[in-house]
Amino acid sequence: MNCTIVQRRLLSAEQPDQPAADIKSHMGQCPSCRAWQRRLVQMERQVPLLPIPPSTTKDLFLQRLTGTCQGDTGRPAIADPATLWRSQLMPGPKERALRKVSLAFALAASLLVFALAWWSWPHDHIPAPDFAQQDQARLEESLHTSLYANTPKERVLLLVQLAEEVHGEARKLADNSDRLEQRALFYSRVVGEHLIEQARQVPAKDRAVVLQRVADSLREAESTASRWEAQLQKSAPRSAASFRRIALASRKSERDLRALMNG
Ligand SMILES: [Zn+2]
Repeated sequence: MNCTIVQRRLLSAEQPDQPAADIKSHMGQCPSCRAWQRRLVQMERQVPLLPIPPSTTKDLFLQRLTGTCQGDTGRPAIADPATLWRSQLMPGPKERALRKVSLAFALAASLLVFALAWWSWPHDHIPAPDFAQQDQARLEESLHTSLYANTPKERVLLLVQLAEEVHGEARKLADNSDRLEQRALFYSRVVGEHLIEQARQVPAKDRAVVLQRVADSLREAESTASRWEAQLQKSAPRSAASFRRIALASRKSERDLRALMNG
């Protein structure tokens, strides 16, 4: 029993305020379905107040179209008011469903109007989302996750993966020198501090294999970053400096790792 099924069954229920036992037990553990049911029950109370298009109109229209309606030429295709009135007073399941749908549309439409009004209103005082800050938060979270892995070996491998990701995406930021520098600083911290610290804790028997792979990755990063530094030297000196930082951090970390491997 998932939320979609529960909400669908509530929607089609005659009395959504008195759900079946299995629905009730799901709602006992699901605040979002409880809130959903509350809204639905509120909505149900509004339903009788809502006008709906009479369901007979379509039949009449079709009859007129196919010429099967007897002796009514010139008569407007509007339902008999009595039929309309009855369906308003005693809505059958079809009318109930129709009203719910039209109410849902009315709600969606009013939300849309609100959103458009909000959007078209000048609100310069609302700051644009700070991408640099979001980016930094995401990186810190990945770092945190890496440092929480079970063994030093896992932590080392996750840190290398993170470093490769940061380094790989850095090239796309060549024309955004502030964010690139932010990345370069983060990269230096990951490979210069955390990686070495975790590498020291890898058991001696695993060191050769694990650290070899890490050192190779760092060497690769150093050569790529140096190449980008050279490419950007003239057109974007600040970005070039960030790549130099990445290259230097990679080189130093690689040297420290090889020293660790050699005991
Ligand atoms: Zn649920």
